[in-house]
Amino acid sequence: MLYLCATPIGNLDDMTFRAVNILREVNLIAAEDTRRTRKLLTHFDIHTPMIRFDENCKATVAEKILARLQAGESVAVVSDAGLPAISDPGADLVKLAVDAGIKVSPVPGANAALSALICSGLDTSKFLFAGFAPKTQKNRRDFLQKLSTVDATIIFYEAPHRLKTFLTELVEVFGNRRATLARELTKIHEEFLRGTLDELIAALDEVRGEFVVVVEGQTQTQVSPPVNETVAQVVEKFIAQGLDKKAAMREAAKIFNVSRREIYNALLEEDT
Ligand code: SAM
Repeated sequence: MLYLCATPIGNLDDMTFRAVNILREVNLIAAEDTRRTRKLLTHFDIHTPMIRFDENCKATVAEKILARLQAGESVAVVSDAGLPAISDPGADLVKLAVDAGIKVSPVPGANAALSALICSGLDTSKFLFAGFAPKTQKNRRDFLQKLSTVDATIIFYEAPHRLKTFLTELVEVFGNRRATLARELTKIHEEFLRGTLDELIAALDEVRGEFVVVVEGQTQTQVSPPVNETVAQVVEKFIAQGLDKKAAMREAAKIFNVSRREIYNALLEEDT
């Protein structure tokens, strides 16, 4: 059996009884970072042998793990935190195991995305987990553009040093939607910041800790332009107030609660 075993995302008390038992009983633990997992194992008095299984070595190590599974041994995969295979190693191994006819079983527990979603105050009936956005700006824009029409709450992971840039791009592509930043979940400084994307950007001064970004889907926003004006008229007004065209389009996007690209397209349409 290959077990996909959740570990805490902050608070060690979130380790489940079953996770402790499974990690004690299996023949081998495949860990993303053996030093980090060693601390967890020591805390719970678990003495099972470990093998390193991370993004760099997964191709070679996966073969070894598969051979042991095929020989009848049981293996548990753990990541640094939360559920393996969710923005963490594990998914490839599951695929190989499934293809080889080996049984796979979850040992559920903590997960940052779902923990953030359920406390976000946003619609939980339909959601999309988008994970980390690509690192290059062009790919990130394309990625966000594709998600901008999704009619479901969207969940992102983001590193603290990229969070402000990410939120700024998000508001440019998505428009000024409602969102929740879930910070340091289950830890001492756990915090939820709720508001529009613009409000959240303004509220963030020092960005420290781990974050999940939860954003409302496209049709969840009430698009109600406050004025009876065309997009072009609103953009012109801002230009008359001294903004350049790009900034004027950004302000118009906020008013119409749409992305800047949509404002651009509307201007083209109004022109024809
Ligand atoms: N496998 C993990 C899970 O199931 O949640 C996710 C691992 S991913 C490499 C790490 C990202 O998850 C972080 O950059 C952050 O976005 C999010 N994350 C993990 N722990 C968190 C926490 N305690 N509070 C807020 N976000 C967290």
